Amino acid sequence: MKAHDGMYIGGEWRAAAGTDAIEVVDPANEQIIAHVPAGTAEDVDAAVRAARAALPGWAATPPAGRAARVAALRDVLVARKGEIAATVTAELGAPLPFSQAVHAGVPILVAGSYAELAASYAFEEKVGNSTVYAEPVGVVGAITPWNYPLHQIVAKVAPALAAGCTIVLKPAEDTPLTAQLFAEAVHEAGIPAGVFNLVTGLGPVAGQALAEHDGVDLVSFTGSTAVGKQIGATAGAAVKRVALELGGKSANVILPSADLAKAVGVGVANVMGNSGQTCSAWTRMLVHSSQYDEAVALAAEAAAKYGDRIGPLVNAKQHARVRGYIEQGVAEGARLVAGGPEAPREQGYFVSPTVFADVTPEMTIAQEEIFGPVVSLIRYEDEDDALRIANGTVYGLAGAVWAGDDAEAVAFARRMDTGQVDINGGRFNPLAPFGGYKQSGVGRELGSHGLAEYLQTKSLQF
Ligand code: NAP
Ligand code: MG
Repeated sequence: MKAHDGMYIGGEWRAAAGTDAIEVVDPANEQIIAHVPAGTAEDVDAAVRAARAALPGWAATPPAGRAARVAALRDVLVARKGEIAATVTAELGAPLPFSQAVHAGVPILVAGSYAELAASYAFEEKVGNSTVYAEPVGVVGAITPWNYPLHQIVAKVAPALAAGCTIVLKPAEDTPLTAQLFAEAVHEAGIPAGVFNLVTGLGPVAGQALAEHDGVDLVSFTGSTAVGKQIGATAGAAVKRVALELGGKSANVILPSADLAKAVGVGVANVMGNSGQTCSAWTRMLVHSSQYDEAVALAAEAAAKYGDRIGPLVNAKQHARVRGYIEQGVAEGARLVAGGPEAPREQGYFVSPTVFADVTPEMTIAQEEIFGPVVSLIRYEDEDDALRIANGTVYGLAGAVWAGDDAEAVAFARRMDTGQVDINGGRFNPLAPFGGYKQSGVGRELGSHGLAEYLQTKSLQF
């Protein structure tokens, strides 16, 4: 795979300050496919300076001008869709059709939505005798994970650009090639030099240097809750704005009046997509005791149908971690009805689609984010019991409710401590705010709520 041997800073590819490199591995065959430079605090500093220098000009560009550049960026993502999908498949391992539809497709929708929002958003508002201006927060330090490599980048960079902010991105070490492609797209779209900057590198080195840098006004982080807590603490000490998109352990609540086969089938598919590496995946399936055995049989059958059509996990560490969780589930008394901890292939970081029955709410596999293709079926006795189980984790990112009619499902969803709920299989909406209750995070991404994260207000009184 083609890789840049440098950082994208101030509108050009510059040599890194140090000589360390990151190996990029194809998780489907464990082969090294490229090297990218491992950035240091020095690279981060150069990038933040470039972003700061570009800030006054970009912040003063009228919204229509910013909208035109974001629209141009969207157009480049469309033109290079095939290349993006192939790159995500190479470094993340997702099957190519999924990379085309989701990994390349969704960022196009999101970038398009921000081209429109930049043009239509009310950046100026009259409140009584005041005029309130929504001004850019400033320089954004964006730190992104590997699970949806381009989506996570675009969900931060597109609204930041629309708001008039400038950006330094530190992408995940596992998926830097997608980030380099994105930097090329920014360049091709004619976004002015220094408005977007890329520093590849390791989290505890480049990521931490970015989160701690005095020249960064807002840190926007997506990843694990453990690192998110650290970033929140660092930002708090510096009175810096912070947005955190963290883990999840979402409940898929199937009420007795629901279409059981559909709810189970869609529920299993929701987890298996991206090999279970989705923060909002419905990894806990809650089923009424009267329908439990039937749901278990349906889920086992749905998982078996996936067979080896799912991609590998991203790296050896996640592979070991997820298989460890499956072993722990067995050790704690849950019953395997599909898949298991054995690696299904000699090569590549594959895990079989796995379904556990007889999972109780306090088990480790029902409490901790597994980030692999593992669904746990939990039995409930009545609606209050289901609600207690659904709300009984530290997370609150997403969820689903299925019922005979939408009103019944909505009534239940309104009692859930979670940021997003899909009602009877509701579709993904790129304009709906996405983000967590409880330890799933702080702040929202996507749509106008996502844009507001990158704005601060100034009131003038007359
Ligand atoms: P992670 O370590 O939190 O990584 C997220 C991003 O933060 C990466 O760019 C990472 O760099 C960087 N980072 C790591 N340590 C840092 C530090 N001390 N200071 C600043 N930045 C730092 O997550 P992960 O290791 O990739 O995945 C582990 C777990 O996180 C998963 O099992 C899953 O539970 C969760 N996760 C959640 C999401 C989500 O969307 N909510 C996405 C991915 C993962 P490196 O790439 O170099 O580590
Ligand atoms: Mg990590």
